[in-house]
Amino acid sequence: MKYRKLGNTGLSVSVIGFGGVPINRLERPQAERTLHAALDAGINVIDTAQSYGDSQDKIGRAVQSHPHRHEVILATKSQERSAEGMSQAIDESLAALRTDHIHLYQIHDPREGDLERIAAPGGALEALIAARERGKIGHIGLSGHRPGILTPAMRDDNLPLSTVQIPLNIVDYPLFRAHIPVASEQGLGILVMKPLCGGLITSTREALSFVLSHPVSSALVGMDCTREVKENCTAGRQSFDLSEEEQDELQRQADVLGVDFCRRCEYCLPCPAGLEIPDILRFDRYYSSYFTEEWAQEQYRQLESNVSDCIDCGTCEERCPYDLPVREQLEAAHRHLTS
Ligand code: SF4
Ligand code: SF4
Repeated sequence: MKYRKLGNTGLSVSVIGFGGVPINRLERPQAERTLHAALDAGINVIDTAQSYGDSQDKIGRAVQSHPHRHEVILATKSQERSAEGMSQAIDESLAALRTDHIHLYQIHDPREGDLERIAAPGGALEALIAARERGKIGHIGLSGHRPGILTPAMRDDNLPLSTVQIPLNIVDYPLFRAHIPVASEQGLGILVMKPLCGGLITSTREALSFVLSHPVSSALVGMDCTREVKENCTAGRQSFDLSEEEQDELQRQADVLGVDFCRRCEYCLPCPAGLEIPDILRFDRYYSSYFTEEWAQEQYRQLESNVSDCIDCGTCEERCPYDLPVREQLEAAHRHLTS
């Protein structure tokens, strides 16, 4: 495994990091096996969030029982915007992760006006700075999906940031490439989310090499089994150079995906009607793009709730960081998957 500096934090992180979303779907023994395999393979940075179900708790338990536990760099985040809410979130994260120190605590997914609220008196920044002074956290970071909000935030002297977490992959590259030099100029470490486009880019080594050929610190990959750990970590040991053919193949996959597709971040969940939104949109992707229509339709039939149960509340669209027309896409998926 290769390692890189995390900006000016003094921390050195594995180029492949552990993304904490998928682990919340796993049974505890499987979660522990996967995480232990990742730590055995040299991964030393784990990213999670308060909003990822029981991800923090599973990570806390698994790390606690691993011999490398003292070398693990823990990163988590919260969508709390007030000082009181953030202070409570930090204490909850410390308890769930079973530690008295979290290396990196990130402001999670800020939207229009949030950063002003966070930096104002009584805002979440007060709690983050207080927690840093007391040693509960090491550094403050920002994790977001909206380029227009991230760029000014990275340059804002009122926000004492050490890192930024951005989506970077062959599809999102045009939107986020400009953040890389801004981060360097500001001395911020870059953590990369969605390096495999939520699993939709299937050439793992090529996709990770594309990301890691840029001056980023770590590509955080969601993994839910030891096979995926092995595949991702192999990519983290090799050269990140890509041949022209490999670049063309990546671009071909990006062209098939377009831009308005679900990245499987799960921020839209839970749906009050019980719809597994990212799964439904993924089945539709398989139906439309990969010529596995019957398999996709069968998977859809097996779901407990389908799109006809949607109560049209719109919550999924309010929560989706990519501003996807989720209901419209679900309707289209339902048409395809029941045709
Ligand atoms: S609009 Fe439908 S799919 Fe979206 S959250 Fe509401 S019930 Fe679920
Ligand atoms: S619909 Fe949006 S919020 Fe839901 S998983 Fe997909 S990208 Fe994430």
